Amino acid sequence: MTTPKLSVVVPCYNEEGCLDMLHARASAAAREAVGEDYEIVFVNDGSKDDSWAVMQRLSAADPHLVAINLSRNHGHQLALTAGLDLCAGDEILIIDADLQDPPELLADMRRTMAEQDADVVYAVRRKRDGETFFKKLTAAMFYRVLDRVTDTPIPLDTGDFRLMSRRALDAFLSLPEQARFIRGMVAWIGFRQVPFVYDRAERHAGTTKYPLAKMVRFALDAVTGFSTAPLRFASHVGLLLTAASLLLIVYIAIAWLAGSTVQGWTSTMLVVVVLGAVQMFVLGMIGEYLGRLYVESKRRPLYLVSDVAGPVKGRSTLGY
Ligand code: UDP
Ligand code: MG
Repeated sequence: MTTPKLSVVVPCYNEEGCLDMLHARASAAAREAVGEDYEIVFVNDGSKDDSWAVMQRLSAADPHLVAINLSRNHGHQLALTAGLDLCAGDEILIIDADLQDPPELLADMRRTMAEQDADVVYAVRRKRDGETFFKKLTAAMFYRVLDRVTDTPIPLDTGDFRLMSRRALDAFLSLPEQARFIRGMVAWIGFRQVPFVYDRAERHAGTTKYPLAKMVRFALDAVTGFSTAPLRFASHVGLLLTAASLLLIVYIAIAWLAGSTVQGWTSTMLVVVVLGAVQMFVLGMIGEYLGRLYVESKRRPLYLVSDVAGPVKGRSTLGY
């Protein structure tokens, strides 16, 4: 079986209202770029709506479309991993299902890739239309904090929307971790990566699939996956507290010698409360790492597929 020149990979969770338009626009963009030599890979991430039915209908009418139905909701990053694992193209475009990332930019991204001889062209958001102030603020803060604490330089204001070469994708697929922060992992592999600035559009239909809880989890995966700074912070706090307690011991000794040792409810409570809080916080932080270590050590497949529609061409290394 020959490999297509281009794969367009899309993770989808409850996106029934977007799929028809997405399919039409992505197909047109792909056809314009490489003629008939492309595939579109839709991954249904355990949607509760009719996304899978829509995908089956579309794939029955379009031999370019591969639809993959995961066994349940595995989460955005794992659904995307599944699509990347099962696609076969020489070039790979990652795109969201909601058309916030316009497929029409493919042509310009390919041009940038060719001109700059790049392995990854990542799309940097200049504007984000139709998103809440809260989302924009937390996202802006997230990327800046992440940049400070990580050792891998992860591009600011960059989502997963990007064009990759096959060799970059294969390098990415060689990273087996469970807690996947894909934009960071792609930055980590290196090769030549260049930015591509665009304005993020509004969602075509439906609402965001990233409620606050998922955003927090995503941010924790990013930090713990790419930085041990919190652990270092824990030991620094420990060091500081040790120094403070040495001073306190000296003070206590002097007070004892001077014979004034009764009073002091306030200071005792203060020390107990502050120490208790700091210890819990630091323990929790260590727990975040420990939990991830535990999950990694189980070495489970990253995703499970229940059905496919259309010709799957990629050979999986990460899923089942
Ligand atoms: N998504 C997914 N599984 C999930 C959550 C989201 O596959 O559990 C997909 C979703 O369908 C979309 C992409 O991930 O294609 C990004 O989600 P969304 O657009 O809701 O995030 P936002 O743009 O609001 O950050
Ligand atoms: Mg979106």
